[in-house]
Amino acid sequence: MLRLLRKVQPLRAYSSAALPAPEINPSIMYCGVFINNEWRKSESGKTFETKNPSTGEVIAEVQEGDAADVDAAVAAAKKAFRLGSTWRRMDASHRGVLLNKLADLMQRDRTYLASLETLDNGKPYATAYGFDVAASASVLRYFAGWADKNHGKVIPMDGNFMAYTRHEPVGVCGQIIPWNFPMLMMAWKIAPALATGNTVVLKPAEQTPLTALYIAQLTKEAGFPPGVVNVVPGFGRAGAAIVAHNDVDKVAFTGSTEVGKLVKQGAAMSNLKRTSLELGGKSPNIIFKDANLDHAVETAHFGLFFNMGQCCCAGSRTFVEDDIYDEFVEKSVKRTQKRTVGDPFDLTIEHGPQIDEDQMIKILSLIESGKSQGAKLETGGTRVGDKGYFVAPTVFADVQDDMTIAREEIFGPVQQILKFSEIDEVIHRANKTDYGLAAAVFTKDIDKANHLIQGLRAGTVWVNTYNTLSSQMPFGGYKMSGQGRECGEYGLEAYTEVKSVIMKVHEKNS
Ligand code: NAP
Ligand code: MG
Repeated sequence: MLRLLRKVQPLRAYSSAALPAPEINPSIMYCGVFINNEWRKSESGKTFETKNPSTGEVIAEVQEGDAADVDAAVAAAKKAFRLGSTWRRMDASHRGVLLNKLADLMQRDRTYLASLETLDNGKPYATAYGFDVAASASVLRYFAGWADKNHGKVIPMDGNFMAYTRHEPVGVCGQIIPWNFPMLMMAWKIAPALATGNTVVLKPAEQTPLTALYIAQLTKEAGFPPGVVNVVPGFGRAGAAIVAHNDVDKVAFTGSTEVGKLVKQGAAMSNLKRTSLELGGKSPNIIFKDANLDHAVETAHFGLFFNMGQCCCAGSRTFVEDDIYDEFVEKSVKRTQKRTVGDPFDLTIEHGPQIDEDQMIKILSLIESGKSQGAKLETGGTRVGDKGYFVAPTVFADVQDDMTIAREEIFGPVQQILKFSEIDEVIHRANKTDYGLAAAVFTKDIDKANHLIQGLRAGTVWVNTYNTLSSQMPFGGYKMSGQGRECGEYGLEAYTEVKSVIMKVHEKNS
């Protein structure tokens, strides 16, 4: 089990035999607002429901934070950031120790955390255990290592000066995260922020607040001082209050492009706080006839259906070379029909529900648009059952570039298979989108691969693989898929201000 966690598994490599049994009814311990290492009720006294997407049943009532709670959280974060505070006086290496301790605690509570994520989000327990907790601990450990290594430079500037740069924390960081990878998005946000000495006010998505609240308690147990990590559950209003706050120095956001624009605007209209944005995508996955076909079919399937299609980098436009098109479609349909849909606590299940009723309805209406605009529905296309928010894994063939399903982010289990015949044609079509998060190429021809790597306008290009994410590699978008990068050394930049120090050297006449 330890070995499993240290080495994040490739996303598909879970063996249900290796997993400890889930807690089917994990107890819900924390539903409050977490400020200054203490649990509070919301200032308004309001609460909201979080539901189990497999059944639609209410799991818990969570305190509904809004602007007043954000004010209190920001005040705590600002105080914790003051020069001379325990946090600011802490050795950088010790910040790394605390982050590693937090990863240890997640490892200790791995079964519980994975179970809680499955209950609140609906993702298969095998994924929550094998990927989400493991990748979260991995990113905490990765940035723990950077805590005392994010150093500046001594620069030989003109004149007689001692000149160097300091890499300093930005200050109070607002962090707003979505519901598709609640725990992992929290880890991606807090790890670089804390490694570099910032303080944090985080708002989880209204659909999935529970793991963020539990991890908040773990930050206290790990030894982070009061005010360093604050978590305010609530609706978009609470997110907007973070964005508008003049004492917030930076906001990091993951979610829709639409709200991402509001975040950028709100940041500009308040104190011009720094922003980093990870937004939507409509990523092309390009398969050439020389590729290993079975591998390409399986990986394209995984690249779209992983997490019930709720991935910003989902390979939602599968471009297939004309010679192998029919065979590829046939094999993809067969694979999709084998996908097991059902109770995400069942270890043999690959596919759970969508996050909520709104998303399910949106996905079903996009499927209708695909049918009415002339795409060929090969399999799926309907809701599964009448309880919870399950959508049948769906494949469309004969998809054309101008159809809504080929242009809009569906964020659901709907694969679009398009046909191409020329390399430059497919590059052009792949880039004909406002998004630019990820892309993939399947070929054995290194020259073809390199040509596409250069031509595709996307923050990540995978070759003969898909959804291969790592704490060490930067992730982020070109164009309207976002700004800035998370993970890897580049991920430090969003949380670091560079200070130039220039000291006059008084020459001695000797
Ligand atoms: P969203 O509305 O962009 O929500 C993301 C986060 O922003 C949530 O915490 C949300 O709070 C908060 N928020 C909402 N309005 C805000 C505002 N005006 N100011 C600041 N924060 C605000 O995304 P969604 O509604 O969860 O999903 C809608 C679409 O977003 C999806 O269909 C998909 O296209 C995209 N999405 C992308 C990703 C990704 O990883 N790139 C993840 C999830 C969704 P609430 O929870 O209260 O809304
Ligand atoms: Mg929920």
